[in-house]
Amino acid sequence: MGFGSSFGRYRIAHSKFSLVFSQRSRQDKEKFNAQQVEITFLGTSSGVPTRSRNVSSVAFRLPQQAEVWLFDCGEGTQHQLLRSDLKPSQIRRIFITHLHGDHIFGLMGLIASCGLAGTGQTIDLYGPGGLKDYIDACSRYSYMDIARRITVHRISTGIVYEDDQFCVSCAKLTHRVPAYGYRIVEKDRPGRFQLEQAQALGIPPGPIYGQLKQGKTVTLDDGRTIRGTELCGKPEVGRKWSYCTDTVFCDAAVELAQSVDVLIHEATFAHQDAQMAFDRLHSTSTMAAQVAQLAQVQTLLMTHFSPRYAPGNAIQLEDLLAEAQAIFPNTKLAHDFFTYALERHR
Ligand SMILES: [Zn+2]
Ligand SMILES: [Zn+2]
Repeated sequence: MGFGSSFGRYRIAHSKFSLVFSQRSRQDKEKFNAQQVEITFLGTSSGVPTRSRNVSSVAFRLPQQAEVWLFDCGEGTQHQLLRSDLKPSQIRRIFITHLHGDHIFGLMGLIASCGLAGTGQTIDLYGPGGLKDYIDACSRYSYMDIARRITVHRISTGIVYEDDQFCVSCAKLTHRVPAYGYRIVEKDRPGRFQLEQAQALGIPPGPIYGQLKQGKTVTLDDGRTIRGTELCGKPEVGRKWSYCTDTVFCDAAVELAQSVDVLIHEATFAHQDAQMAFDRLHSTSTMAAQVAQLAQVQTLLMTHFSPRYAPGNAIQLEDLLAEAQAIFPNTKLAHDFFTYALERHR
């Protein structure tokens, strides 16, 4: 009996602890989420979908802009979005690597639904030559008024998009049709302004603080010269990531991936099927790992797997992972709805 009651107390205490803990972790998660870029894989199969993997699409949630950027949009991407925590209304940009169906057949359905949602939000769509013709033809023959919903930008090697926080560039990969890999760089932020120090120096409040925060040098009315850089902490280095698919091993991928925090690289085939990779201009797990190693990236996330390695086959994805990790240990296998958080460098 005594044992029973103490067990009961333990259970009550434990459940209270769990409640507090879960509330705290939720608050922490919210605070945490406001800072991190979240990478969510919506499709990780190459060519055709399987029961557990859809075709290519990766979403990047940028919480500070309240925007989602998609990279590729295979068939069924909007269904995958509905099954994820992402808000389709936040999709602001879609970057397409190449025009193979497993990377673009989800576009028309997604764009049509976004238009019907009536948010008035336009989507900027980036991709190789031919993408605009494809979109125009699809919309013409399905009686869809698309001009108000999307703007199509034709990409070529170099900068594709830039704003005050991000710069997106691309370079041509080596595939059977023109295909481009992307590099996304977040701009460095000035260090935190030391307000107390500025006040201690007797700097009068006003617009002067804004100039100092930007690191500018100002002269006060009393003749003193104050360097903003000395009142700011260490600048925060921006995050970088790269998306390389579809391609066989190529130097362009190594360049795009140089020193990134996260490289997403295709690994359609296992090492022993390298001949198929060369014939079809896709990568093996070992090629993806070599790119990661040469580019000195932090983390490699492999995706775009051939259905031939599905469970029950002689070679499975765990084998591809082991092959890659032998060359680049910090490698992970993506799966549908796998989310990876990209923390700020502070
Ligand atoms: Zn593909
Ligand atoms: Zn392809």
